[in-house]
Amino acid sequence: MNTRPSPRLPARLLPALAGAALFHLAAPAAASEAEFAACLSGLRGEAAGKGVSAATFDTHTASLTPDMAVVGFLDAQPEFVTPIWDYMAALVDDERIADGRAMLERWAEVLAKVEAEYGVDPATVVAVWGVESNFGRNFGSRPLLTSLSTLSCFGRRQAYFRGEFFTTLKIIEDGHIAPERLTGSWAGAFGQTQFMPSTFMRLAVDFDGDGRRDLVDSVPDALASTANFLARAGWRAELPWGFEVALPAAFDSSGAGRRNRRPLAEWAARGVKRTDGSPLPANDTATGLLLPAGAGGPAFLVTRNFDAIYSYNAAESYALAIAHLADRLRGSGPFAAAWPTDDPGLSRAERRELQHLLIARGHDIGEPDGMIGARTREALKAVQVELGLEPDGRAGQKTLTALRTQRQD
Ligand code: CA
Repeated sequence: MNTRPSPRLPARLLPALAGAALFHLAAPAAASEAEFAACLSGLRGEAAGKGVSAATFDTHTASLTPDMAVVGFLDAQPEFVTPIWDYMAALVDDERIADGRAMLERWAEVLAKVEAEYGVDPATVVAVWGVESNFGRNFGSRPLLTSLSTLSCFGRRQAYFRGEFFTTLKIIEDGHIAPERLTGSWAGAFGQTQFMPSTFMRLAVDFDGDGRRDLVDSVPDALASTANFLARAGWRAELPWGFEVALPAAFDSSGAGRRNRRPLAEWAARGVKRTDGSPLPANDTATGLLLPAGAGGPAFLVTRNFDAIYSYNAAESYALAIAHLADRLRGSGPFAAAWPTDDPGLSRAERRELQHLLIARGHDIGEPDGMIGARTREALKAVQVELGLEPDGRAGQKTLTALRTQRQD
């Protein structure tokens, strides 16, 4: 055993080291800034053609500096693929159902008007709101003009992001939203609905009648814009999104797929039933069979309304989370079938509890915010080794249960 005191750096060396680190970062940053300035002056020449005045361009780009972190996000490969049961457990949990029901009540009058105008029901609109921005609580904190100007000048999708950048300037010039309120994700999705600027231009509506389409500070504008999006994506008021079904034993699932729509009567003839065992409605509604975790997990028949939700974010897991949250807001229960795992996912409350337990064991993972980031995953791997569990860094029920039990010992 090493009993010598660990060598410590004299404190006075630390500023010098910090300075050295800054020096290494400074060279490429300076090059980026020169390149950025040249790029912006090129963009200035295109502004008029995009409907943005030189005055607006100059006012809102004068103090911009590039944020090279967003270029990193553009190329980042997900280092951790989230299983659908983890994704669903965090997006549709008791807190979000309770919050969503409170919002349905609070905004009932607006939601009724929205439904009358666009044909999209209140629960679906509120479910999108809850998943997109946690009912207006999480917009993302990156200034849009900074992110989008950086992505207009660096990285591999500059043409696309230039369009979004000019559209952001146009939103400001038209007076819809103040520039300091335009913060969002690294890619530029912003506000209650997390629309990209181009989506805003096509689909945002002024529903509170103040003349501005404000998806940041007006809940009525945000709710109506969400409904308008879904209506334009093909939503039909008379259809459900779909429903969970039970497949017969030895079912041939080769015809599964959201877009491979067959009449309900055809699925019925193949032995597909409601999860309570009752027959499917024998009609010609076109539905696709969705098997998010393969034939061994929950199965769903989905209509074109599911596709409308899908078009909001191009992921079936995302669309299922919104569809299921809407059902839960209407009072339905959890899925009848279990996900094919012996280690189900955690709600946000359970994730926070897990983080508190990690902190209590001495792991520095920052604030327990219910978000499972890289530091939480590293700490999880370490405790999973100690607990004799598979060290995969995943936040599941097995690890939480083991940590609770150890604490009680
Ligand atoms: Ca408005």
